[in-house]
Amino acid sequence: MSQYKHVALIGLGLLASSISLAMRRAGMDARITGTARSKDTRDTALELGLVDAVFDTAAEAVQGADLVILCVPVGAMGVIAEEIAPHLSEGCTVSDVGSVKQAVAEAVGPHMPDGVHLIPAHPMAGTEKSGPESGFASLFDNRWLLITPLPESSHTAVERLKDFWTALGSNVELMEVEHHDLVAAVISHTPHLIAYTMVGVADGMNRVAKTEVVNYSAAGFRDFTRIAASDPTMWRDVFLNNKDATLEVLGRFTEELLALQRAIRVGDGDFMFDYFTRTRDIRRSIIDAGQDTEAADFGRGKPEK
Ligand code: NAP
Repeated sequence: MSQYKHVALIGLGLLASSISLAMRRAGMDARITGTARSKDTRDTALELGLVDAVFDTAAEAVQGADLVILCVPVGAMGVIAEEIAPHLSEGCTVSDVGSVKQAVAEAVGPHMPDGVHLIPAHPMAGTEKSGPESGFASLFDNRWLLITPLPESSHTAVERLKDFWTALGSNVELMEVEHHDLVAAVISHTPHLIAYTMVGVADGMNRVAKTEVVNYSAAGFRDFTRIAASDPTMWRDVFLNNKDATLEVLGRFTEELLALQRAIRVGDGDFMFDYFTRTRDIRRSIIDAGQDTEAADFGRGKPEK
């Protein structure tokens, strides 16, 4: 395993804290430095031992690092890239965990000095929790990590980053930037938008009391609320930065919703039965692929620290 000696984590929330814990679990002895926007988060990260040293600015945190991972909301990455650029070491890799890749490549790329490898990446793993206390070492286990190399990305630097994420428990795959954003829109971004909408609808229904929505929430609605509790800043930035792909998927979604709406109106039970049978097969494939379990409540227990 080609290990990094010094990893700088910019942003110290769910993703960064999980990276740190997974690095330690993997036995990596790299120095870990970091920074976050607020003093509270910086102090907490230090107290939890997520970083060996914490700095007030990203510029200080990246000094001497051979791997810098941007773990901040997508909309903050360009400004941070500009700030750290003069302080990056020759030969270091700058990567990220942002949920959108084209926008990150465009915002960060122009600031990267010669001799620095920009390699965007996205772990297909997460929860609705935020902050340095929400991380856990097993977050990336058996989850996919998509690396979206740029045409100029060095093969050796990509392989090294691949080894790093494999050691953290991920299955790594390379994907073209634009395709990544469409895939993410289908499997993550649009489902989040739909969950936000459904919870918003329930909240706005004046013929159903709020206490009824809360008290009687069965699995369907309850699972929507878990997704709809995700960080507002992160998700605002996702939709602002993956506009085209999300709108494309949303267009398809609306068409299918109308077809189902019509089936309900005209009483076309066969249409609904066939549709729901097809969707159940997708669920079966996800379980067969080891990406979820068959246990009730999606098998979610308390994550291991
Ligand atoms: P998080 O828990 O909310 O943490 C974000 C961190 O970024 C916080 O430490 C925050 O500092 C810091 N930050 C925000 N703006 C900053 C700025 N301008 N300068 C410096 N630090 C700043 O978020 P997360 O869930 O780890 O998400 C981080 C990234 O991972 C996002 O780009 C997201 O798209 C991506 N991602 C998330 C998930 C998920 O399920 N959550 C999954 C895959 C990828 P303060 O605490 O001081 O505000």
